[in-house]
Amino acid sequence: MLNIILFGPPGAGKGTQSEKIIDQYKLTHIATGDLFRKHLGEGTDLGKLAQKYMDEGNLVPDEVVIGMVDEKIKETKANSSGYIFDGFPRTVPQAKALDTLLKEKGEKIAGMIALDVPEEELKKRIKERGKTSGRTDDQDEAKIENRIKVYQEETLPVANYYDGEGKLVKIHGVGSIDEIFGKISSEIDKLK
Ligand code: AMP
Repeated sequence: MLNIILFGPPGAGKGTQSEKIIDQYKLTHIATGDLFRKHLGEGTDLGKLAQKYMDEGNLVPDEVVIGMVDEKIKETKANSSGYIFDGFPRTVPQAKALDTLLKEKGEKIAGMIALDVPEEELKKRIKERGKTSGRTDDQDEAKIENRIKVYQEETLPVANYYDGEGKLVKIHGVGSIDEIFGKISSEIDKLK
């Protein structure tokens, strides 16, 4: 199995690049933001719980996220040749929990690909996406600011965690979608 984390701040292009990665490498996509939005749309208890955090651009509690990811891995493992984790892990405890979950299954993270994009560009992209995404957290300046702040304070340490394991690869995330994908895929090829 090839298990990869696609990492980066909100608006870095993780969703867009994930689609291309899945297509080329036939990996299973686990995007925690998408999973929460699905729960929200279906009105599940998990969706209701997550909503108040998402509405403010804050992180959903670790145990909730980890439980959801664990379930998703169990559901898909038999038919999967590997995972691309997108928007997860977002805290060091989530990263440690993911390592444990994978270890129990005889698996590990091969690498973390981190998209680096300047803050002004992130804000521009998120607002642009907000015109069509229907996401309230993409349309409000204060929520966007908070998501970037939460990323810097709570999520960035996750990159250091994987760097310490020699698994971090940084990629400049500005340019055309195909250009960036070209850089990502040459890094993934090295991990295979
Ligand atoms: P995203 O689609 O990745 O931008 O996520 C949207 C929102 O879902 C975030 O602002 C958080 O409120 C929540 N969320 C998604 N993934 C996580 C995670 N791994 N940990 C905590 N909260 C998350």
